[in-house]
Amino acid sequence: MVLQPESVYVQLGNKQDDTTGAISPPIHLSTAYRHNELGQSTGYEYTRTKNPTRSILEEGIAALEHGVAGFACSSGMAAIQLVLSLFKSGDHILLPYDIYGGTYRLLAHAHEHYQLEVSYADFQDLRSIKQMIRPETKAIFLETPTNPLLEEIDLTEVCQIAKANDLIVIVDNTFYTPYLQQPLRLGADIVVHSATKYLAGHNDVLAGLVVAKSKQIAERLADLHNNIGATLGPFDAWLVIRGIKTLPLRIRAQQKNAQHLAAFLADQDHVQEVIYPGKGAMVSFRLQESSWVAPFLKQLKLISFAESLGGVESFITYPATQTHADIPEAERVARGIDGQLLRFSVGIENVNDLIADLTQSFSKMNNSKGGDLE
Ligand SMILES: *Cc1c(COP(=O)(O)O)cnc(C)c1O
Repeated sequence: MVLQPESVYVQLGNKQDDTTGAISPPIHLSTAYRHNELGQSTGYEYTRTKNPTRSILEEGIAALEHGVAGFACSSGMAAIQLVLSLFKSGDHILLPYDIYGGTYRLLAHAHEHYQLEVSYADFQDLRSIKQMIRPETKAIFLETPTNPLLEEIDLTEVCQIAKANDLIVIVDNTFYTPYLQQPLRLGADIVVHSATKYLAGHNDVLAGLVVAKSKQIAERLADLHNNIGATLGPFDAWLVIRGIKTLPLRIRAQQKNAQHLAAFLADQDHVQEVIYPGKGAMVSFRLQESSWVAPFLKQLKLISFAESLGGVESFITYPATQTHADIPEAERVARGIDGQLLRFSVGIENVNDLIADLTQSFSKMNNSKGGDLE
């Protein structure tokens, strides 16, 4: 029976425990697994290598992303580190300029300490990607849409260039999730997620996921996952499973709110520019003046000024001092992450309440003309 996506998502973890018939999958805390005799195994030995609760999540995300195997890690950064462990000193990786600040920081460290070569290119210009490929280039690592400027990258085109040059393509699919975009089906080789964001969706668990398309890469990742050991704990795996069940409902509600809010913000005198790719639930926007950012954030009553995204509660982040603070200022501003830019992770609140909160904050700024606005 071929199921529609909503049915697949919500059934994750069900029918996994024949002994009890549990609907919610058991959380297996046991770190060790007994063998009846020499040469026998239940398939589980030691929890770092394999854990039954984690396996449900790993097999689930592999199916949702159309890969052959999934690996659950203790954070999104641990997932990215796991993928970077596939490379060696001297290997070259190509990325778009607009990338998650933590990824930028981890790659800078890998360059400094392990001589991993890293270059950034304009991925809206396919020629610039081709020009930067050199004999040592092994991979392209990208996010689409990019963060925080929400530019979509043409994955099919990038994957074609990669195939022609024998490069592997790694996509951080945190922002769109497999519900809106399945990079492995468009030619990518590896998908990574910060499951902390939309997949878990409730701002209560830190987790990362990796999915491989080929058996060959999956085998290398399985070794590294076990060797490095930044695996996801069973309780956290269960929280992510629980989150994934409602992902389609949440994304649809958040996306609908985001579409409304993008239109609302575009009409506001205080807003210089709205950046919204038309789908997903992230909206970036620039206030007319960077000096308005502090009073605007301070006046918000419903929306939290906080540094994350993808949860059911609405957040506004200030990339310049939060997610992207580690990129040197001149470079950050040159990349478009300036002092006016805010990133809105739209939640599932009633959209009229979100609009009312933004309206009251903007109106306070008007009243304090000569004060906060100067
Ligand atoms: C948050 C985030 C990460 C890092 O994930 P953690 O779970 O915080 O370690 C990586 N990529 C993107 C796009 C993110 O938003």
